[in-house]
Amino acid sequence: MGPPGAGKGSQASRITTKYEMPSISTGQMFRDAYNAGESIGINAMEFIKDGNLVSDDITNEIVRLRLHKEDTTTSFLLDGFPRTVAQAIALDGMLVDMDSNLDAVINILSSHDVLFERMEQRRVCKKCGATYHLRFKTPSVDGVCDVCSGELYQREDDSHESVKRRLEIYETKTKPLLEYYSDRGILYHVNGMQDFDKVTEDIFLVLDDIK
Ligand code: ADP
Ligand code: ADP
Ligand code: ZN
Repeated sequence: MGPPGAGKGSQASRITTKYEMPSISTGQMFRDAYNAGESIGINAMEFIKDGNLVSDDITNEIVRLRLHKEDTTTSFLLDGFPRTVAQAIALDGMLVDMDSNLDAVINILSSHDVLFERMEQRRVCKKCGATYHLRFKTPSVDGVCDVCSGELYQREDDSHESVKRRLEIYETKTKPLLEYYSDRGILYHVNGMQDFDKVTEDIFLVLDDIK
């Protein structure tokens, strides 16, 4: 968990590499569906581009279908889901159905100034979703993904206006979830305003401890 731009996606890929589990990113699933011309992605993008949330029904359904795949039986990481209390309640139901449970919720903290800067400088690969930053994580060749040579682009929702809206929505809809998980004793905070490796190190300390 964490506000937009906190580093969830960047850290998710490091976590899933180390602990060998799939990363389930709702934002990435929506963008992939949009880039593939699928109607669910095209409909979702109407909300996403202005910085609004996609409806709980659509989001829960996309996660439910994804969790049904075989690679989630041992472990999995959720990135960007749940984002509302209704989604958290729906997730609890899905976990009961699969006889699974949440071990930890990692909350990546950051200030609004840092978040604005990060999102304005963020570039994403159209093909594989890898994320870059024009100053802190530059690709070897301008505009080209190091991983797959795909084209890098700026997300439409990383415009100043959309970022403002996303931060407002984070405060009102998503932040209340922190209490939901701290009440269960599974919430851990990590300072996201440190460099990539230090954030990763702090997350690994938490996860190694609960394993
Ligand atoms: P989120 O998934 O939470 O929106 P991302 O992982 O996409 O966040 O990161 C947002 C932007 O900030 C990207 O451009 C990324 O390269 C950059 N970024 C992420 N973590 C750090 C960090 N610790 N230091 C500097 N830049 C970072
Ligand atoms: P970020 O963390 O930078 O906001 P994401 O890739 O997680 O980026 O999400 C991008 C957008 O996709 C969100 O602003 C929202 O419109 C939509 N989205 C992603 N996850 C959810 C979710 N769980 N519920 C509703 N909308 C979502
Ligand atoms: Zn790529």
